[in-house]
Amino acid sequence: MAIIDTHCHLTDADFAQDYPAVIERAAAAGIDKLILVAYDPDSIEAVVSLAARYPAAYCAVGLHPSDADQWSLALQRRLETLLEHSRELKIVAVGEIGLDYHYEPYDPVLQQTAFASQLELARRFDLPVIIHERDAHEAALDQLRRQQAAGQLRTPQQIPGVFHCYSGSLEFARRLLPLGFYFGFDGPITFKNARRNLEALAGLPRDRVVIETDSPYLAPVPWRGHRNEPAYLRLIADQVAKIWELDPDQSDERLRQNSLRLFPGLNE
Ligand SMILES: [Zn+2]
Repeated sequence: MAIIDTHCHLTDADFAQDYPAVIERAAAAGIDKLILVAYDPDSIEAVVSLAARYPAAYCAVGLHPSDADQWSLALQRRLETLLEHSRELKIVAVGEIGLDYHYEPYDPVLQQTAFASQLELARRFDLPVIIHERDAHEAALDQLRRQQAAGQLRTPQQIPGVFHCYSGSLEFARRLLPLGFYFGFDGPITFKNARRNLEALAGLPRDRVVIETDSPYLAPVPWRGHRNEPAYLRLIADQVAKIWELDPDQSDERLRQNSLRLFPGLNE
C-alpha cells in the first residue's frame, strides 16, 4: 500500500546535491505523495517550484515561528497571491506556522501576530494549517481557541489542521481534539526512549493520526543521527502498525485516508 509523507523539507540545503535521487528513492519505497513544507520566504518560492516539477510533490506555504521577525505586509501579500492559485500550484496547506518558545531569545508578540495572520489566511483560502509548536502549549491552545470562537479558524468538522511532529503528552493532545486537530508522528516513535510519543500515538483516536518524516531531521532507527529522507517513512509506518496491532496494509490504508481527509488538495 502506498504511503504519504505529509511533511518534509526537500528544499533544504542538505538535499541541494541530490534531491532528484531522493525523490526517486521515495517512489521506489512506496511513497506516492509528498508534502514539501516551507518555513521562510526563500523556501516558500522553492517548494512551489519543486511541486510544479514533480507529480508526486505537493506543497505548504507559510512562515515558521522562528522566522517571525520576517513577517511583513509584503510577505502576507505574496502568500495571498500564491494562495489565490492554490489548486494550480498544488498548495495543500498553510505551514509551517505556529509558536516556538524553545530557543531564546524569542518574541512572543511577533510570533503570535504572524501566527494569527496566517491562521486567518488559511481560513480565508479554505486550507488546513500545519502547526509547529514547541514549549508553547498553553499559548498555542489559547490562541487557537480564541480564533475558532471568532470564526478565524476552520470548524472541527472542516478539520483546521495538524500538529506536526507531535511530541506532547496524550493529555495535551486530548485538549486539542475538540478543536478538530490531527497529529503528525515522525521518526522519534522508533526511538528507544519514545515512551511519551508512543503513549500519545496509542491513546489518540486512529482517525486523527498521520505520519511524516520531517526530512532532513529526525531520521528513524536505524538511521537515527543521519540525514532523514522520505524513503524512510516505511519505518515509521511499520511502527504505527505495530502499536495499532494491525497488518501494515490495514494500518497504511487508515493513515492514507486520514491524510487525504486532512489535506483534500492531495486528491487532485
Ligand atoms: Zn518541519
